Amino acid sequence: MIIKEQATVVKHTGSHYMLAQLPSWNLFPAVLRGKIRLKGTTATNPVAVGDVVTFEADVPDSAADGGYVEHLTLENPAAITSVHPRKNYIIRKSTNLSRQSHIIAANLDRAFIIATIDFPEIKLPFLDRLLVTCEVYNVPATIVLNKVDLYRESHAEMLEAFHEIYEGAGYPIIEVSALTGEGVDKLREACSGHVSLFSGVSGVGKSSLIKALDPSLDPKVGEISDVHLQGKHTTTFYEMYSLASGGFIVDTPGLRGFGLVDLKKEEIALYFPEMLRVSEDCRFAPCTHTHEPGCAVKEAVEAGEISYDRYSSYLGMLDEEGKYR
Ligand code: GDP
Ligand code: ZN
Repeated sequence: MIIKEQATVVKHTGSHYMLAQLPSWNLFPAVLRGKIRLKGTTATNPVAVGDVVTFEADVPDSAADGGYVEHLTLENPAAITSVHPRKNYIIRKSTNLSRQSHIIAANLDRAFIIATIDFPEIKLPFLDRLLVTCEVYNVPATIVLNKVDLYRESHAEMLEAFHEIYEGAGYPIIEVSALTGEGVDKLREACSGHVSLFSGVSGVGKSSLIKALDPSLDPKVGEISDVHLQGKHTTTFYEMYSLASGGFIVDTPGLRGFGLVDLKKEEIALYFPEMLRVSEDCRFAPCTHTHEPGCAVKEAVEAGEISYDRYSSYLGMLDEEGKYR
């Protein structure tokens, strides 16, 4: 008989999807039935990891009430018939400048942006860009500072300034060390019961951290085959992992940046929370916070209430905004 149920997409391999009925991790394969189109997106992938979908499947009558998953195989996959509206999503910057985009993941409870103050040295404009993207797409962001064992003492002042700026802007910070295990429990707790995106430039220890969270996971193993695949295809497939301690994470191997689409110049400052808060006092509206007289944002920067680094990231984004459209 034909059953009709809901599940979450946890993986896309190119030829098929893997679904699970979260929070249970009962993986089974599925394919798209017909053409599924979502209104208002130019995404190259109509179905992404994290999407909640309705599927139909042909299973023996005796299995229809439960235990049908074992009857769903690559020879008899479920058929995805519709994608439910997304609460949010994150897209990847297109490699060319076309308006096409690739949805990395949908329905995220939180994005953990893994960074290091040093080893490798933090690139603030890049971090700020990721944070803006999270604001634009409505994904709450937490900054995870990894490798604190290496720089907590040598960079104590920078670390303190970092906390002041980013916690001041409204972003929680978790200090961890995948090496010593410090802070890992706290991160594990923050992941529990949620679907989280893990992002960070290569070398910050994202894989080590995922492994520290759950030793049964080894993101680098997948990455090697992805690199192999990338030689032939330009698509990277993202995947959701189940943490033994509870919660699900979507790793983003090889991701250099998220993409911003449909963001106008005068909108960028709306996604810097500390600028947004003071901008209602600007004399002009809209105000680009650059040359306008009576600009409350510029005044706050001069008074040291808004970080000059954040403001300069903002100016950089205004300048380069064309690239992100
Ligand atoms: P990824 O590219 O972000 O996935 O980074 P990896 O997990 O491969 O780590 C990059 C390098 O940093 C490796 O040599 C790790 O052993 C090292 N590393 C990762 N986390 C820590 C940490 O907390 N402390 C120290 N000292 N080294 C770390
Ligand atoms: Zn202004």
